[in-house]
Amino acid sequence: MRISEIYQPGEFGLSIEVFPPKTPKGDAALWETIERLTPYRPAFISCTYGAGGTTRLRTIDICREIQERFELPATAHFTCVGSSRDELREWLDSAAAAGIGNIMALRGDPPQGMEEFRPAEGGLTYANELVALIREQSKEFGIGVAGYPEKHQEAPDPETDLTNLKRKVDAGADAVFTQLFFVNENFFRFREAYEQAGIRVPLIPGIMPITEFARIKRITAMCGAIFPDELASRLEAVQDDKEAQFEIGVEHAIRQCRELIDAGAPGMHFYVLNKSQACERILDALGVETSCE
Ligand SMILES: Cc1cc2nc3c(=O)[nH]c(=O)nc-3n(C[C@H](O)[C@H](O)[C@H](O)COP(=O)(O)OP(=O)(O)OC[C@H]3O[C@@H](n4cnc5c(N)ncnc54)[C@H](O)[C@@H]3O)c2cc1C
Repeated sequence: MRISEIYQPGEFGLSIEVFPPKTPKGDAALWETIERLTPYRPAFISCTYGAGGTTRLRTIDICREIQERFELPATAHFTCVGSSRDELREWLDSAAAAGIGNIMALRGDPPQGMEEFRPAEGGLTYANELVALIREQSKEFGIGVAGYPEKHQEAPDPETDLTNLKRKVDAGADAVFTQLFFVNENFFRFREAYEQAGIRVPLIPGIMPITEFARIKRITAMCGAIFPDELASRLEAVQDDKEAQFEIGVEHAIRQCRELIDAGAPGMHFYVLNKSQACERILDALGVETSCE
């Protein structure tokens, strides 16, 4: 199923994001995660494209395997980092040949040690150019892009960031998937501005269940997501108890998702970090039906 076909009135579009593991143990965790989440009938599973442009072909291989083994649509993430236009086109040919119908089109972060993003020789500078290149090559791909309810870290202000997001949609993106956030009010404010800016494609909240405080602190520091003080103090109070952290994280995500669904979110994109337990708990609490029932 293409991204453009998923978010129909009355339907809830669940999507799950995984990453390419680096070890055999990691491989086992990845496949177990997908196996355990498949019964919730996700509209697609997406696989990230390694920072710095690493895992280029591995992302395609994992997506192909997801489709073959689990008969679920896969979405391959794809960034501009380290590739010329010709290399980007070649990768798209490989993705199409592998039967992948959806692309998450991103600029990517500057490679480690580089202060600001610089395009590869003959490459692209912004994700809207990547969306245009994909559309030029094939009308067949479904295309998702990234949106930032709390502003992208490099953007001077939310208005400019939103104008830049609109460029991606105008270039042909089918839906916007947000960066992870913990404060729904920020998402609602962003959605209002998004609608006022005349952006009409589905806006899908991105949720990362907190399973370990130390890990989530590292992740939010990297991506700039705002961590509410109240939640931080509750987690700090149990910093030696991983089970308690997990429970607080799951409880927060359930509350967050319920409110988003009640407010009309057409779907949910879960960053599961190749672990299924928290996501299963959340989906069960939300009453998402599984094919096992
Ligand atoms: C759902 C999701 C999935 C992700 N998956 C991956 C992944 O698999 N691999 C990975 O490496 N990273 C991934 N990322 C992270 C992403 O690569 C970074 O956030 C990156 O810094 C920005 O990517 P972008 O596609 O949003 O870039 P862009 O949309 O190009 O925006 C980058 C910055 O440039 C500005 N800008 C955009 N267009 C223009 C323009 N035309 N003129 C001037 N300024 C402009 C924007 O306001 C923003 O500040 C993901 C993020 C999200 C939300």
